[in-house]
Amino acid sequence: MTRKLAILGATGSVGTSTLDLVERNPERFDVVAVTAATNATALAEIARRTGAKLAVVADETRLPELQAGLAGSDCRAAAGQEALIEAAAGEAELVIAAIVGCAGLSPVMAAVEAGRTVALANKEALVTAGALMTKAAAANGATLLPVDSEHNAIFQCIACSRNEDVSKIILTASGGPFRTATAEAIAAATPAQAVAHPNWSMGAKISVDSATLMNKGLELIEAHYLFGLASDHIDIVIHPQSVIHSLVEFVDGSVLAQLGSPDMRIPIAYALAWPERIPTPAQRLDLLAVARLDFEAPDLERFPALRLAREALQAGGSAPIVLNAANEAAVASFLAGNIAFPRIAGIVAKALDENDLAAPQSIAEVLEIDQMTRRRVADTMQAVCQ
Ligand code: NAD
Ligand code: MG
Repeated sequence: MTRKLAILGATGSVGTSTLDLVERNPERFDVVAVTAATNATALAEIARRTGAKLAVVADETRLPELQAGLAGSDCRAAAGQEALIEAAAGEAELVIAAIVGCAGLSPVMAAVEAGRTVALANKEALVTAGALMTKAAAANGATLLPVDSEHNAIFQCIACSRNEDVSKIILTASGGPFRTATAEAIAAATPAQAVAHPNWSMGAKISVDSATLMNKGLELIEAHYLFGLASDHIDIVIHPQSVIHSLVEFVDGSVLAQLGSPDMRIPIAYALAWPERIPTPAQRLDLLAVARLDFEAPDLERFPALRLAREALQAGGSAPIVLNAANEAAVASFLAGNIAFPRIAGIVAKALDENDLAAPQSIAEVLEIDQMTRRRVADTMQAVCQ
C-alpha cells in the first residue's frame, strides 16, 4: 500500500532526511504536497523529483519564481498561509510536520483537525499549543507520531504498555557544543561555534537551542503533552555520546531504552512506516566502537534555559508560548550577530517574569500571545541597544 505524504518544511534538515527515505522506498510513499519558507527554486526541484501535485512557498513574493520552476510540470504552485494549510489538510494521509518554529502551528493544527496522521518534528507547535492540539487530535481521530529522536525513542519503548505502568521517562541530551565550556567561554560564544553540534547535523535554530539546552527544555514540554506525564516524572540526563536516545522506567523498576547511531533517518523512518519498520542507510550501532556510555546531571547555572523551560511547564497557561516566542526571537537575534549568547536565556527570563497574558482558549489566542511576546522582546532588545 502506498501512503500519500505531505512534507511541510521539505527544504530543511528533517525534510531532506525524509525525502532521502521516501526516495529509497518509492513503492511505499507517494508525495502529494511539499512546502518551504522562501527557497522556491529548491522547492520546485523537490516537487519535480517527487512528482508532488502541490508545492507551496510561504513567502508570497516567491510565487513567480516557484511558478517558473514548475512550468511544464503537473505540479500546482501556490503561496501563503492558506495554501500551507491546504497542503497540510489536503489529500495526504501522513503529514510530515518539519517546519521550524511557531510558524508551523497553523498547518499542523489543520492536519490534526482533518484527522490526519502527523509525524511531528515541529516541537514548537506542541510546546505552544499542546493542550489544544492533543484535545483536537482525540476529537478528530488524528494520530501524533513523534519524530524528535528522544520522543520517538520513548514512543518505541512504551509501545503497547498501559499509561499507568510508566513511572517516569528520562530524556537524554548530548549537552551540546558547550557542555564542557567555562561560563566565560560560553559568554563569548559566536553563532558559528553555537551551531557546530558535536553529534547531530540540524537546522540553525535547533542547533542554537541545543547549545543553550533550551532544546531539551522544549523537549521536556513536548514530552509532557505527548505522554501525559507531569514535570516531576520527566528527568533529563546529559549523555554526551548520543547513543541512548531516551529511556522509560516502569512501575516494576524495569527500564527500557532505545539506542542507535545519531541519525535522524532512524526516528523519521519509524514514523513513516509505523507500525511497521523500513530499512535505513543509517550507520549500525557498534557497541565495541562506542565502548562507553557516560551520564551527568545538567548544569542549570551555565545553562539556565533548561530551568526556565521547566518553570514555564510548571506555570502552564501562556508561559510555554512566551518561553518559545521569546526564545525564537532571541535566537534569531543571536544568529544575526546582534546579541551575545547568554542574552538568549536572559531575554527569555525577562519575558517570563513580565508575562501577564492569560491562558489561550484557541489557536488564534496562542498566535496572539506569540506575536505580543515577540513585540515585547523586540522593544526590550531595542531599549538595550539605544
Ligand atoms: P531547518 O531550518 O533545516 O528547516 C526548516 C524548514 O521549515 C525549511 O523547509 C523552511 O523552509 C521551513 N520554514 C521555516 N520557516 C518557515 C515559515 N515561516 N513558514 C513556512 N515554512 C517555514 O529546520 P530543521 O532542523 O529541519 O527542524 C525542523 C523542525 O524539526 C524544528 O521544529 C526542529 O526543532 C525539529 N527537529 C529537528 C531535528 C533535526 O535533526 N534537524 C531533530 C529533531 C527535531
Ligand atoms: Mg531531540
